[in-house]
Amino acid sequence: MNPISRRELLKLLSLAPLAGFLQPLQNLMASSASPNGYNILILVFDAWSAHHLPIYGYPRETMPHVNSFANHAIVYHNHTSAGTFTVPGTASILTGLYPWSHRALQLYGRIIRAHDTHHMFAALRASDSTLAYTQNKWADMLLDQARQDIDTYIRSGGFDLQKPSYESPFFKNDTYAAYMSFATDFIQGGSLYLAPFMRYFQRRTRSQEETLYEGTYPNGLPNTITGVFTLKDVVDGTIHTLGQIKQPTLAYLHFYPPHDPYAPTAEFLEKFNNDGYHLLKKPVHPAAEQTDHSDPEKQSLRYDQYLASWDAEVSRLFDFLDTSGLRRNSFIFLTSDHGETFERGEIGHFTRLIFDPLIHIPLFVSTPGQTERQDIYSRTSNVDLLPTLAHLTGNPIPNWSEGSLLPGLGGVGDANRSIFALDAKQNSSFEPLTQYTASLTKGDYRLTHYMYPPNIQLFELYNLAKDPEELNNLYSKAGDVAKPMQDELLNTLSEADQPYRK
Ligand SMILES: [Zn+2]
Repeated sequence: MNPISRRELLKLLSLAPLAGFLQPLQNLMASSASPNGYNILILVFDAWSAHHLPIYGYPRETMPHVNSFANHAIVYHNHTSAGTFTVPGTASILTGLYPWSHRALQLYGRIIRAHDTHHMFAALRASDSTLAYTQNKWADMLLDQARQDIDTYIRSGGFDLQKPSYESPFFKNDTYAAYMSFATDFIQGGSLYLAPFMRYFQRRTRSQEETLYEGTYPNGLPNTITGVFTLKDVVDGTIHTLGQIKQPTLAYLHFYPPHDPYAPTAEFLEKFNNDGYHLLKKPVHPAAEQTDHSDPEKQSLRYDQYLASWDAEVSRLFDFLDTSGLRRNSFIFLTSDHGETFERGEIGHFTRLIFDPLIHIPLFVSTPGQTERQDIYSRTSNVDLLPTLAHLTGNPIPNWSEGSLLPGLGGVGDANRSIFALDAKQNSSFEPLTQYTASLTKGDYRLTHYMYPPNIQLFELYNLAKDPEELNNLYSKAGDVAKPMQDELLNTLSEADQPYRK
């Protein structure tokens, strides 16, 4: 069906007394025969590493409700993000492009390549009404670029306890300028003249909220830098919003948890304490910047407690998806934008390192009516989401996407597929790549290139099957494996740089 006629049809149906499309959820769509009739719900948990989930082999039972969700879903065991922090990771989900193509590389990065059409909401425009929400300001900057294709856009502070100051009326007409001013001021101590007032209001409201919630959040409320929130409010807000959608809808919902600061509720503050689990100690990496000097084992424990706390809260969303009938009528993608690490001198994810905890992310896809778990072990990437979504919604697969259809959802696994990741936050988006970390994962191996001249220029090669902790660098020993991978990685980067060479 052609895009316009479908939208027109939906409008007509909404006026017809017998039309089911706009009725309350419970009555809806159960009999839809076409995949075009299903909702697409994309749930992103920020900074959510596969390394901390029992379903992927972690010894702690961090997220039992996610586990239950996954038991009726397709479980992707080797899914990776193409980026190691929010901007490149989220941009790859939204565009189906690798970071060297979308060029959203830095903390303040935006999608450069034809951003008005090369994103999920334009590519899937034909099938559904669209809804987007993210608590993460950096992801929100990317969603903001797709505003013209988003029907319902919930601002990043939508379910927070206070409105972020960049949503003030002063900045009504220029969101990006507002973000930049806000972020520059707040994070880097800039000199925006409104800053003292903003800070005053923020501190005042925040301390009132902290006092109000100190029983539930003894270590402080969760916050997104731009606002404080409770896990409960975010889940309530999401349930309320999903309860009102027009079906079919494409919804992108990007939650801040378990992103730091890890803020478990009182109930989970002692969980996993003294359970005998210890982090494997690894040597500090030469490219590590070691900006966080706290104890990695303590931080990892706190991350796990926060995962458990978020899991308990988000279980209400999973229940709602079941009881409302939405799960029956939807493809639900549960995933992340990047991982989190507690090793080699780094804590968190704002790092130049590329190792598995940073790029290996969960992906569970619940398909309409699915009753059993399906396990996929082929390597997949978050650039695969966009083409897969296009396929599922009956839209043409964008010819600019660099991903493949996910196995189990129209694609077939390819054991020899090349999967890439790139961190180039120190590189200009408009210049060839000269400062970066890039990795190519293929078969059992991962080759990583650290390129920070003049001091750091090195290659590493790990056998992920035999050495999943990535401790034994084989680069100088296994030239027969390393050489072709090195050529492929460098050629790929060189090709991607073509448009940026003068
Ligand atoms: Zn993120």
